Amino acid sequence: MKRVMTCIECPKGCRLEVEADGSRLISVSGETCERGPAYARQEIEAPMRTLTTSVLTRGLELKMLPVRSSKPIPKGKLFAAMDAVKLITVAAPVSAGTVVVPDFLGLGVDLVACRGLGKP
Ligand code: SF4
Repeated sequence: MKRVMTCIECPKGCRLEVEADGSRLISVSGETCERGPAYARQEIEAPMRTLTTSVLTRGLELKMLPVRSSKPIPKGKLFAAMDAVKLITVAAPVSAGTVVVPDFLGLGVDLVACRGLGKP
């Protein structure tokens, strides 16, 4: 199957023409540097995404705290991650970068606060 994707590894945004057999990369063209094929391979064989969302708070100045994963996680784990996020409540003040959940879902990434949040 052939498809077109945009490399997002740098602002140039090269248009990559990719041929794949399911989750196996066959060929890539259109890249300007070696990072393009590496990006295409990752997207075809094991796509990753940074999770950005919000968790509930209790007793803090805002009802929701924006959080993100410290590193990208497998795209296929995003729905499970969102289900897990719904069960999280932060009740203590945090600073930007505070680890809200270490080793989130056992994926080797932390869920971290995107901003500080204190008591009302
Ligand atoms: S292929 Fe290289 S130059 Fe083109 S967008 Fe990707 S990283 Fe940038």
